[in-house]
Amino acid sequence: MNLILLGPPGAGKGTQAVYISKTYQIPSISTGDMLRAAVAANTPLGQEAKSLMEQGYLVPDDLILRMLAERLQEEDCKNGYILDGVPRTLVQAEEMDKQNILVDKVLNFEIPLDEVVARLSGRRVCPSCKATYHVLFQAPKAEGICDHCGATLMTRKDDEPESIQKRMEVYTEQTEPLITYYQGQQKLFGINALGTTKEVEERIRDVLGESV
Ligand code: AMP
Repeated sequence: MNLILLGPPGAGKGTQAVYISKTYQIPSISTGDMLRAAVAANTPLGQEAKSLMEQGYLVPDDLILRMLAERLQEEDCKNGYILDGVPRTLVQAEEMDKQNILVDKVLNFEIPLDEVVARLSGRRVCPSCKATYHVLFQAPKAEGICDHCGATLMTRKDDEPESIQKRMEVYTEQTEPLITYYQGQQKLFGINALGTTKEVEERIRDVLGESV
């Protein structure tokens, strides 16, 4: 099963990617996570991406496409994959089709943009084990400390107010057109992304069923 998770930043794609990956035993591939790892390791790719990411802009399509193609060659992708945060532009989607990167279903996380802005502003992440929290909706047991590994939680640079604003503009201009693109291919399934994590999981399960 080859899936794309589509939707604005903060819609819960990353959280649900973990659930889908566990339930259906397929890897979740997040280009955002891969880029953040490259930035942390200070690789040439990371150096190119860093300031664009921090300001809320997209990184160039060719860079993303190369990174994705390489990752999909790996052994763990042979029974399927979840693409979280890619494609993000029409160029990326068209190029993926040209390269025969298979897609069975596109889950479109539907949520009002003012709701995601509220979610992103309260988001905290663990720099060590990557767990995510929210100061209001999913607070850690001890303020500012990761429940799982005890590391100090942080706010992503691109969750600062100015970057959030830019990311919403970028989403509307460059990513939202993908909804029509995948509707045209009859692969699009809307997922109401409001409500609890469990509720959203159930909606996803209704769409994906038991099959792998
Ligand atoms: P994310 O964690 O998916 O919100 O991604 C964080 C940032 O990484 C984005 O704001 C972009 O700067 C960059 N990024 C991630 N995926 C892509 C992509 N498919 N195309 C372009 N930029 C991306």
